[in-house]
Amino acid sequence: MANTVFIVPELDKNGCWYDYRVHYTGGYGWRGDRTLNQIKYIVLHHTVSTAYSNIDKEVDQIAKYHINTNKWGGCGYHFIISTEEKNGLAKVGYVGDIASIRAHTPNMKGAFSIPAKQGNIYTLGIALVGDFTNKQPSPAQLKSTHLLCNQLIYKESQYSELKSWDNLKSHKDFDYTSCPANVDPEKIINQNIIPAEKSGYEKALEEAENWNDEIQKKYGFKIINLINKNSVSRQDLIIILNNFKKYLDKEIR
Ligand SMILES: [Zn+2]
Repeated sequence: MANTVFIVPELDKNGCWYDYRVHYTGGYGWRGDRTLNQIKYIVLHHTVSTAYSNIDKEVDQIAKYHINTNKWGGCGYHFIISTEEKNGLAKVGYVGDIASIRAHTPNMKGAFSIPAKQGNIYTLGIALVGDFTNKQPSPAQLKSTHLLCNQLIYKESQYSELKSWDNLKSHKDFDYTSCPANVDPEKIINQNIIPAEKSGYEKALEEAENWNDEIQKKYGFKIINLINKNSVSRQDLIIILNNFKKYLDKEIR
């Protein structure tokens, strides 16, 4: 069973962070664990459950449905974004350990080079409480979801395959479903509540693009074109680029 300490400070200091893992069976996992660098995508869902403006009631309803009706060993998501608000933010529940394989993105389409039916191993599930078929998530839900994703992608280096906002996807990208309806990743990305910052991966790429101009002038080719950056992990890309830089710094000077 996994026990991954994880907090979003901005939500925590506003009284919007709740850890429910101990409250329900399977909170720390039941289908097996994974390593944090196996997480390739954050996947958005909507719960199509009743909004009570009460995080305890909302989490309870979803967890019980997954456990008693779906007969799963625990709640299928990792995080639930409730409709209860405080200080303009939605309260967020950490319901399933990040390093545990859960049950809501089987990936029947075999999307993004992930084998079909194995999506749960590689995805992290965030569910917004409500049915967004004919309505929009609240501004507070969008903000809290942004803060949560921002923490995972940009603030913590151990989620090394979460390279940029491109790693935020919808459930329908993986399975034949309309989920999460109007919960569009673009709306979550475009919450300008945090000054734009770059991930380690993006900074390395930017630096590499700068070297590229120098290198092209001298050698007539661009390094970046020699590496398939989509198939290399963030750490490996940084190592490769740093080694190239050391080598070329000697060559160019
Ligand atoms: Zn879904």
